Amino acid sequence: MMVERDEIAVVGAGLAGCLLACFLARRGYPVALYERRPDPRTGKVERGRSINLALSERGLDALRRVGLEQQVMADALPVRGRMIHPVEGEPQFQSYSSSGDRAINSISRGALNNALLNAAASRPGVRLAFDHRLVGLDPDTGEMTFETPQGKVTATAPVVLGADGAGSAVRGQLLGYGALTESLDFLDYGYKELTIPPVGGDFALDPGALHIWPRGTSMMIALPNPDRSFTCTLFWPTHGTASFASLGSPAAIERYFATHYPDLIPLAPNLVDDYQHNPVGVLGTVRCAPWQVNGKVGLLGDAAHAIVPFYGQGANCAFEDVVELDRCLDECGDDWPAALPLFQQRRQANAEAIARMALDNFVEMRDKVASPVFQARKKVEHA
Ligand code: FAD
Repeated sequence: MMVERDEIAVVGAGLAGCLLACFLARRGYPVALYERRPDPRTGKVERGRSINLALSERGLDALRRVGLEQQVMADALPVRGRMIHPVEGEPQFQSYSSSGDRAINSISRGALNNALLNAAASRPGVRLAFDHRLVGLDPDTGEMTFETPQGKVTATAPVVLGADGAGSAVRGQLLGYGALTESLDFLDYGYKELTIPPVGGDFALDPGALHIWPRGTSMMIALPNPDRSFTCTLFWPTHGTASFASLGSPAAIERYFATHYPDLIPLAPNLVDDYQHNPVGVLGTVRCAPWQVNGKVGLLGDAAHAIVPFYGQGANCAFEDVVELDRCLDECGDDWPAALPLFQQRRQANAEAIARMALDNFVEMRDKVASPVFQARKKVEHA
């Protein structure tokens, strides 16, 4: 068993990694938080990768436990229902609750990550190491190898926690050692962001709604930003007719949107430029087992269970993981070889459930929300 309060290594200073560092610091652990990127608080956001998150109660509960809810919510906008945009006719609002007072919160992933980085950096004993890309890990000794601008460096920790996202290098290393198995299920769909800027200094659409343009086999959504713009995300097939690959020229892009998303045209002056230059992101589900090896190396967040984004729960789940791991450490008296398997036992079925619900919700969002039967059912539910 590790000597108590040795420095824990957390790989990945994304959403889960930063929150985890705050929780571990509260337990009295020194933490080394390794991140492959340069410090995002000083740099520019990658084009077309702003990503708005819907943060709900599950995530807020985790933030509240370490006093971060108010700080994070300062950058969030409440969203009380869906606004469905048909091809023709007026948009229709569907409230998330009969009283209209329940909301999810729209927040930029970058702003959330920066707030969590600030929080982690301010905790005693937390050490941030940017420009450290994990490229090697020995699960028996806890020795890690990182690529840095100065060359390769190594470090060893009694416990290494992989919070390094869907393409986790920690998971990849464990796979290489034959210590786990994984399955990666990619959708034949990708995502691309577009922007609706403010009009006359104000929101161009109702900022209290998640806007959805359901189009049967594909869809677009839009969430508001504090600067009064909206980030739109297209979820389209990657290949075939009516896919990202099928629209080559500016004229074809304009024609397609004028036909299928006519109310977007006057709102998105940079539509063609955004469409042509913003990247197409991949969407998939990651499953792996076990989530820990030797009671010494563990996985959490997207590294253990990345899901498609259609239920808006990936980050919320990653935050819940942190709370559960903290609870397991409480119950096991900080005995990591006992706490890590217990964490997996408590979380894996939940992660699988939300992975399936997220896949199902894609069909609901892109298709069912537009059907008269669905709309009538929602009215009855709220009556
Ligand atoms: P990440 O946030 O991906 O962080 C991983 C970190 O590890 C990154 O900082 C990365 O740079 C770092 N890293 C990676 N490799 C290495 C390495 N080798 N060495 C060191 N560091 C490394 N979730 C919601 O809850 N609500 C939503 O509405 C929602 N919408 C989404 C919309 C889209 C389009 C997408 C793509 C995702 C959405 N999600 C949503 C999911 C959410 O973004 C993820 O679930 C969440 O970011 C997972 O957090 P994480 O910390 O596990 O991983």
